[in-house]
Amino acid sequence: MPSTAILWLRRDLRLHDHPALTAALAAADHVIPVYVLDPTLLRGRFASANRAWFLRETLAELSAAFAERGAGLRILHGRPADVLPAFARETGAQGVHLTRDATPYGRTRDRQVAEALGAIGVTTHAKRGLYVHEPDEVATQDGRPYSVYGAFRRAWEARPRRAVLPAPERIPGAPGWAQPQHADAIPDLGAPTADIGNLVTPGERSARDRLARWTASRNIDTYNDDRNRLDLDGTSRISQDLRFGLLSPVEVVEAAVGAGEGRRVFVNEVVWREFYAHVLWHNPRVLREEFQAAFRDLPYRDDAQQLRAWAEGRTGYPVVDAAMRQLRGSGFVHNRARMIAASFLTKHLLMDWRVGERIFMEHLVDGDVASNNGGWQWTASTGTDPQPYFRVFNPILQGQRFDPDGDYVRRWVPELRGIAGSAVHTPWELDATAQRTAGVRIGVDYPAPIVDHAMARERALATYGETKTRAAGG
Ligand code: FAD
Repeated sequence: MPSTAILWLRRDLRLHDHPALTAALAAADHVIPVYVLDPTLLRGRFASANRAWFLRETLAELSAAFAERGAGLRILHGRPADVLPAFARETGAQGVHLTRDATPYGRTRDRQVAEALGAIGVTTHAKRGLYVHEPDEVATQDGRPYSVYGAFRRAWEARPRRAVLPAPERIPGAPGWAQPQHADAIPDLGAPTADIGNLVTPGERSARDRLARWTASRNIDTYNDDRNRLDLDGTSRISQDLRFGLLSPVEVVEAAVGAGEGRRVFVNEVVWREFYAHVLWHNPRVLREEFQAAFRDLPYRDDAQQLRAWAEGRTGYPVVDAAMRQLRGSGFVHNRARMIAASFLTKHLLMDWRVGERIFMEHLVDGDVASNNGGWQWTASTGTDPQPYFRVFNPILQGQRFDPDGDYVRRWVPELRGIAGSAVHTPWELDATAQRTAGVRIGVDYPAPIVDHAMARERALATYGETKTRAAGG
């Protein structure tokens, strides 16, 4: 009797370099690809209309790609631990193949699914695929996890990378589900809140084009110099592709490695993604609390009006507002701008990083539990290997340095478009005549700064310093 394997797709929505797909094809005569629409992920704490839209469009393209090769993609609705065993029974599958996940939710879910499948005699086969090196396999000589990025990276680099796997030409679907017309329709998962489609096209094909364009462009060679520039397109824009697994991280690294500082620094950034997955794997509690015990008692401020001003890009600091409007408008933010916006919330406004973490997750198409938490805790100076607490980004200097002509600000803050050059970073310094010429009234059309920079900086230093001393018993 022919054997059947289920390929349970999650954050590995691709055909190229897919170890679980390769294993499923080797294990059985028929392979049924399945995606489960899990209400916990679609409606939970970190749900996002932007990611739901991106997911839906990606699944539609993936379904067509599977159908072309001979297998119809099935869509199941519900809790994976309920619907997958029922589906395995219905199809008579002997095994379920999947790519290992690394988040606390994903790990618990996968354990529950494996138990439920095991109870009916179906085996679960988990393969690598989300990271170059699995979060739990990079370890110190005595087997302990890392909490410093530099040491992690050196250990990461010392490990051999596996070979890239080709995309299969044929995927023999189960009888009755082998034709394109047999694939399940992909339900509408709602409209995005941001204008994403014009900026990044969903799907594996576009992701592969993005990677090919990036590794062939001059930008990768100047990445070490230009990656912090807010006004240039100096980064790869593949974060959503890694987030949803449209690209394999092994392929990304293989395509990028080469001579030059730009390529070296680019690969180092990809390693940050692996580092934060490693941190989360070993410390799931970072999703709830500060990694650094010394800062668990920070007296966060609670000010709904200031929080709203930050979230909506109305703080009166143009580069912060540009970042938050880029987030809401496009579902993406430049890395430097993420740091500037996150620093402003946590240091200038002294608000809880968890609030910012959730707002970023609501909008980011690349929203990734590990990288987002890592980025927030790094900026708030509460995480593993964080920025020292006494380093407080100055939003004026950051703007002047990384958006020297003010183009980034003018792109995202239309009220300030009449202000030429870098003066756009300090609009409150314009006198009444200059404001009239620029067509903006500060305090009317665009806010005056909601906090004074020098006061906010001193307040942050004092609060962090006192909290640390208190924690040390001083
Ligand atoms: P590139 O500069 O071209 O980098 C290549 C890839 O390396 C990225 O696609 C990404 O996968 C990885 N990478 C780069 N920088 C980092 C970093 N600091 N941490 C982890 N991975 C990195 N990245 C996410 O993918 N999802 C998130 O939810 C996320 N939230 C963040 C929140 C904050 C507060 C901060 C400061 C950073 C966050 N980052 C997050 C990291 C980084 O901002 C984005 O990965 C990057 O801006 C994506 O653009 P790119 O693809 O052009 O990156």
